[in-house]
Amino acid sequence: TRFHDLNLRVELMHAIADLKYEYCSPIQAQSLPDTLQGFDVIGKGQTGTGKTAAFLLTIINDMLNNPLTDERYSGEPRALIIAPTRELVAQIADDAAKLMKYTDLKVISMIGGVEYDKQLKKIERSAVDIIVATPGRLLDANKRGDIHLDMVEVMVIDEADRMLDMGFIPDVKRIISRTPPKNNRQTLLFSATFTPDVLNLASQWTNDPTVVEI
Ligand code: AMP
Repeated sequence: TRFHDLNLRVELMHAIADLKYEYCSPIQAQSLPDTLQGFDVIGKGQTGTGKTAAFLLTIINDMLNNPLTDERYSGEPRALIIAPTRELVAQIADDAAKLMKYTDLKVISMIGGVEYDKQLKKIERSAVDIIVATPGRLLDANKRGDIHLDMVEVMVIDEADRMLDMGFIPDVKRIISRTPPKNNRQTLLFSATFTPDVLNLASQWTNDPTVVEI
C-alpha cells in the first residue's frame, strides 16, 4: 500500500514526503484502513515495525478532518498516548512533531523524573491537542486537576506487554476510566506479544477491535 492510496490530508502527505516514506510498512498497511475510519485496533508489533506512525497518522488525520469549532474547543487533549518509558515517550513526541510540521496541532509530553511545575507551565501556556505520557505522571496531573481527560477521542496504549511487566496496569486502568467510555472513543493498543493477560486487557479496553498481527 502506498500512502497516496490512503486519502490522507495534504498536510500529512507533505510531512510523509519530507520523511521519505513511500510505502506503508505491513503493520501500517493492515491497520490504517480501519483506524482511519475510526475502528479500534489491537496490533502486535515491536519497535521498528512502524507502529508509531500508524497511530500518529490516525490521530492527526482525524484531528485535521474534524477541527473543533471555537466554542467547543477547550484546549484539553483530544488524543492521549501512554507508553511505559521516558525514552519511548520522547521518541513518540518527536515523531509526532515531524508528522505535524505542516499543521497547527500541539503535542506535549509528560514524564516522571522531571520537574512537575515546569511541565505544567508548558501545558498552561498553550492549549494541547495530543499528550504523550508515562502513566504515573499523567495520572498525577489528572488527579491534581491540571489535565482533564474527558475530551479524549483517541486513546493509544503502546507496548502494553511492557506496561504489564513494569506494574503500570493499575495506573493505566485509572487513566482509561477517566476518559470517555470505550464506545465513545477510539482505542488503539499495541504490544510486542499477545499474552493472555494482554488480550484480556485489550478486550476490556477496546470495542470490537480489528486484530493485526505481523
Ligand atoms: P517504529 O516501529 O514506530 O519505532 O518505527 C521504526 C522506524 O521506521 C522509525 O524510524 C520510522 O521513522 C520509520 N518508518 C515508519 N514508517 C515508515 C514507512 N512507511 N517507511 C519508511 N520508514 C518508516
